[in-house]
Amino acid sequence: MLRLRRQVYLDNNATTEVSAAVQKIMRKVLAQCFGNPSSRYRVAREAAEILVQARKNVALAIGADPGEIIFTGGASEANNQILKSLLAARGQGRDTVVASPLEHPSVLKTLEYLGTCGVRVLFCPVGRDGRVVMDALAAMIDERTRLVCCMAANNETGVMQDLATISRLAHSKGALMFADCVQALGKMLLDCNALGLDYASFSAHKIHGPKGVGALYVRAGKPLTPLIHGGHQESGLRAGTEALHNVAGFGEACREIPGVLACAGTVAVLRDHLAAALQAALPGTVINTPREFSVPNTLSITLPGFDNGEAIAFLDYHGIAASAGSACNTQANEPSHVLRAIGLSDQAARQTLRFSLGERISRRDIRYVGAVFGDYLRGHGTPVTMINPAQLNEDMLFNENLFILDVRNLVDRKILKGLPGSHEAPLLSLKHYLGQVPRQREILVACQGGTDGPIVAYYLKSKGYHHVSFVMGGVFAWKVCQSELYVRLGGTCITVLEPGKKLHEIPSD
Ligand code: PLP
Repeated sequence: MLRLRRQVYLDNNATTEVSAAVQKIMRKVLAQCFGNPSSRYRVAREAAEILVQARKNVALAIGADPGEIIFTGGASEANNQILKSLLAARGQGRDTVVASPLEHPSVLKTLEYLGTCGVRVLFCPVGRDGRVVMDALAAMIDERTRLVCCMAANNETGVMQDLATISRLAHSKGALMFADCVQALGKMLLDCNALGLDYASFSAHKIHGPKGVGALYVRAGKPLTPLIHGGHQESGLRAGTEALHNVAGFGEACREIPGVLACAGTVAVLRDHLAAALQAALPGTVINTPREFSVPNTLSITLPGFDNGEAIAFLDYHGIAASAGSACNTQANEPSHVLRAIGLSDQAARQTLRFSLGERISRRDIRYVGAVFGDYLRGHGTPVTMINPAQLNEDMLFNENLFILDVRNLVDRKILKGLPGSHEAPLLSLKHYLGQVPRQREILVACQGGTDGPIVAYYLKSKGYHHVSFVMGGVFAWKVCQSELYVRLGGTCITVLEPGKKLHEIPSD
């Protein structure tokens, strides 16, 4: 069994661990509160009371009235509902949305859809500092503008926008103002009312709550149409029996926000320590997160000369979870639209990493990351090569210097055929098979979906193998990129390695 070293979770913008208090209330609701809040007897009334309390907690955390909160199945749903509500207003003269190009895909893709329905969508320019260019935005808002849409803080760069000013600009031309506040909640003080927002969206799992629940804020009196029809729940704006345990968990997570915000200063200091350590290790490092207007936990850095996929794999092997930013698709390896929008080249975007810290991070954790990753950046690490599955053609696969090590388990092997010519050895007892993995050849590690490959590749490096690479996205990605080859040659010429044997005891390929 491969054992990982210290675990440091630095991907809190992707999701957060569920806090103990949230788990407790969710367990309680699941065990004791099975009533349907819409019914009229005691267990139902208890359930309804939980719903009321959770709504109050969320409202308090965002500067809203409880009546302005609609619980949803997450922020993606909330974003869809707010934007698709615009369809009801078509033909009323205002047909335009002015949006920032930095938005989450649940906003951008919905806008793309609205574009096909006749809504005019304009994107405002953003500067290299990650902020919308205010003069340009002001010039784009006019009497055709129905909605201005700008997120509060970006998930990749952590950059906060000046929402109060943007709201004023929108309202001065009679437009409505919508902000996706998912990455701002719990990281800065938020007051929807004071900021002049008409709509906002929130997600519980970014603030130590459960996944699959979020909220939509709609200012009293502003128009909103349901996305899900068929029930009176949530004032008739979101049909379906409430996921009470999730909603209660969300409410509890909101109740904990003041404690989280109290740690913001410490988190920012640790984030800055990390930035300094990495800049010292690699002087050309570019910081994409300006300290003056960013949430405290996020650090986006570009590391010239380093591929972010390989860096993430290296960090993963050392127990450190970081990310390339949300839009990095492991199969297509598309550079992030956010980084492109702020002016990074595709190459620079592929060299960019995001660290997002949580409140439980310690100075020791950051020292560990700075030391391990700093060594890697100074060139003392043990880099392995990441192979794009699209490159794995017949020539490459049957190169006689290549030894393909397939570390998938039995179940995965039944689901997908292996790379042709690969050698199968189970990940969990890999060390018993190493005698059969030749040191003089290039080792290509293949796992099912791309998660285990990097870990095994670094493990082999630590065992003295010189040329080690892994398939990005694993066999699954290879099947997608090389579908013809998969059908024709997948699963052929497979060797099953045997535990404990030495190299000369297995038949040659
Ligand atoms: N908006 C932003 C800025 C996000 O970062 C995310 C999640 O990554 C979402 C929306 C979607 O949230 P959910 O996972 O609740 O659908």
